This record gives sequence, structure tokens and C-alpha cells, in this order.
Amino acid sequence: MSVNKSTILQHIYIQKGDITKMEVDAIVNAANPSLLGGGGVDGAIHRAAGPQLLEECRTLGGAQPGEAKITKGYRLKAKYVIHTPGPVYRGGKYNEASILQNSYYNSMRLAKENHCTSIAFPAISTGVYGYPKDEACRIALSTIIEFMEKENFIIDVYFVLFDDENYAVYKKHVQELS
Ligand code: ADP
Repeated sequence: MSVNKSTILQHIYIQKGDITKMEVDAIVNAANPSLLGGGGVDGAIHRAAGPQLLEECRTLGGAQPGEAKITKGYRLKAKYVIHTPGPVYRGGKYNEASILQNSYYNSMRLAKENHCTSIAFPAISTGVYGYPKDEACRIALSTIIEFMEKENFIIDVYFVLFDDENYAVYKKHVQELS
């Protein structure tokens, strides 16, 4: 029997703040394809986790946009970091939507495979990569809800938004769903 949407929505939390502080099983890193660190949330996660994170990332051989790879969390409170490069937004005709979907889907898949009961996501691709926030939010929510429905896998999902605009967008879309 599949789980219903209202049960799933009870496990989705929208909050403002810094994802590096989250006490969850896994936090997701909006990485770049090298997986060797960068600016934005990626830089913040590497700073908070310490240099061992970069050491482990060096062994991974990078990741294509939409792929996801998992490491330990080192100095973070989170047990794992799931690294996924989202798409660079180039107007919308370069498969950006399905690549962003893959980032969320593959992150959830790794969370399931590693028996996570909670996960925190940033708004992947909405910083330097320029993805329009409203559309990126729709994709994040629909992909995760669909994953939980289809896989019968309910965990606590935190969207941790750094900027007011993303926070407002997520609040609005979750309200519309309930
Ligand atoms: P991308 O290259 O995928 O666009 P960025 O790191 O530039 O990645 O931005 C992704 C999102 O992460 C942006 O909405 C940005 O505001 C947000 N962000 C930056 N720092 C943090 C943080 N410490 N915690 C949560 N979100 C963050």
C-alpha cells in the first residue's frame, strides 16, 4: 500500500538558516562537478566539516550534474553529506529541469540506501547556478514527494533556506499542497 500525501506533508519542514548546523542523518551539498569544494553552500559545508571531507571527496572522481555521491560528515552534526551538482541554468532548454529532478531523486535514493531517517536540502542550483527559484522549488517538492510515495519511504525532510526569497517561495508552495 502506498503512503498518502498528507502523511508525507507532515514530514516536510521548511526553515530558514544554515544547513551546516542541522542535526540530521544527511545534509545535501549543492556541489560542483569536481566535488572539490567551491563557494556558497559548498564552501560553508567544507569549512564546517573540516579538511577530512575534502580528502574523502578527492577519492570520488567527481560527479555529473544530477548524480549524487555520499561521504561521511566529519565535524558536522550530520552523519553523512550527499554531494550533488545541480544544473547550471541556461534558459531552460538544456534539460535543466530533469537534471535538477535527478539531483533530488538520487539524493533521496542514497538516503534510503544508507538507512537515513532525516535529510536536509538546500535550494540546489538557485545560487550561482541561476535556476529560477519558483520553478526549482516546485521540482524539489514534487520529486521528493513522488519518491516517498513510490518507494514507500517516509523520512523527515528539511528544506533549509538561506535567503528570504527562497524561504517565502517554499512556504507558499507547501501551503498550496496542503
Ligand atoms: P548552486 O551552485 O547550486 O547554485 P549555491 O551554493 O550558489 O549553489 O546556492 C544554492 C543555494 O544555497 C542558494 O539558495 C544559497 O542562498 C544557499 N546557501 C548558501 N549558503 C547556505 C548555507 N550555509 N545553508 C543553506 N543554504 C545556503
